[in-house]
Amino acid sequence: MNTRTPILVSACLLGLNTRYDGKTKQCPAVCRYIEQHKLLPVPICPEQLGGMTTPRCASFFSFGDGKTTLIGDGKLQNEQGQEVTAHFINGAQQSLQIAKLTGCTTAILKQRSPSCGVNYVYLGTKKIAGQGVTTALLTQHGINVISEDDIQS
Ligand code: SF4
Repeated sequence: MNTRTPILVSACLLGLNTRYDGKTKQCPAVCRYIEQHKLLPVPICPEQLGGMTTPRCASFFSFGDGKTTLIGDGKLQNEQGQEVTAHFINGAQQSLQIAKLTGCTTAILKQRSPSCGVNYVYLGTKKIAGQGVTTALLTQHGINVISEDDIQS
């Protein structure tokens, strides 16, 4: 029986090729942290879960951030100018469902992503203080979300 505590983790931080460009953003500090604390990583990619392809166009907020998007006061678009808000909300809901199914109460998500950003996201090309859509939804449901920056610091 596995006695490790499950933790939700952005799949790209674990070495999976889930990023918009089809690449990974593996973070050795996160992998070390998981091993040292005997955690069981539960990989999620909210953008894939939300129905987006890999590779895909990069996306960003055209206004608002994750928190405001969840109350209908935010939007996301991709580099081609297509609105992709519904994919991000869907991906956040699916991620929350996975957290509930697996009993995760903590998540390590990728900073600055429009889904996974914990303290910062992009509004157009400008980095702003804010949360990604999945981070916002998980936080609202009592899940403690930290980023790879918190692990490295
Ligand atoms: S949505 Fe999150 S998990 Fe998926 S590639 Fe982007 S940062 Fe990584």
